[in-house]
Amino acid sequence: MHGTLTFLGTGTSMGVPTLGCPCAVCNSADTHDRRLRPSAVLRWNDEAAGGKSGVERVVVIDTGPDFRAQALRERITHVDAVFYTHGHADHILGLDDLRPLSFIAEKRGVPIPLYADAEAKKVLERTFEYTFSPDSTYLTRARVQLTDLKEKNMVHGVEFVRIPLLHGKQPISGFRFGNAAYLTDVSAIPETSFALLEGVEVLVLPALRHTPHPSHATLEQSVQWAHRIGAKQTWFTHIAHDLGHEETNRSLPKNTQLAHDGLSVAVTL
Ligand SMILES: [Zn+2]
Ligand SMILES: [Zn+2]
Repeated sequence: MHGTLTFLGTGTSMGVPTLGCPCAVCNSADTHDRRLRPSAVLRWNDEAAGGKSGVERVVVIDTGPDFRAQALRERITHVDAVFYTHGHADHILGLDDLRPLSFIAEKRGVPIPLYADAEAKKVLERTFEYTFSPDSTYLTRARVQLTDLKEKNMVHGVEFVRIPLLHGKQPISGFRFGNAAYLTDVSAIPETSFALLEGVEVLVLPALRHTPHPSHATLEQSVQWAHRIGAKQTWFTHIAHDLGHEETNRSLPKNTQLAHDGLSVAVTL
């Protein structure tokens, strides 16, 4: 089955331009240097579902604070599921903007499943208490269903495999689907996770900047991982304002490039 992976945002937690920053990248005229908070959407045509033309399936990975603007830009009109990598603000704060889409999902019969590991689930329940509490009196809360993230998770015939990763000391999740994998906010990839990435042809890795950070890989580290994993294409995301798009991509080999907001790549599911 053919699918499309689209980068909703490729910026680091603060976004680029970063508020109050006078640097060249934050003031760049190149639209590739404008990066919303990190998120991606996978879409495919579910031929097995009803009718001659099938049904479009839409799975979002992380709903950051820019989710509403991203969904408008990419014309996301329904969501079948959301997978959360972890519970930090830049990955979850757009959850409430799922509300109108969740009303559409509810009309179709089911609330939107939100796949999250135990840690991320705790943060979501705390942050959006008015959504998840059984005592909530907020009638127009999002129609969403927190769902335990397992090693393998099936959404309308597509398997999403959890890839265990480390973000500083915190265990977080990456995801593999078909010939593609989306890993963000990684500072270390456990040995056993490399086995889960075997045969990946479209790889997404984070590349914050050149200078080391306690919980994020540098561009150089990610280039090494890209080389080891050996995907046909590796796209970098979660990019800080230290890396200008054109200049950085000129310095990288053709099969490893910085992604940009709105970039779509074909995947096989
Ligand atoms: Zn992040
Ligand atoms: Zn800047």
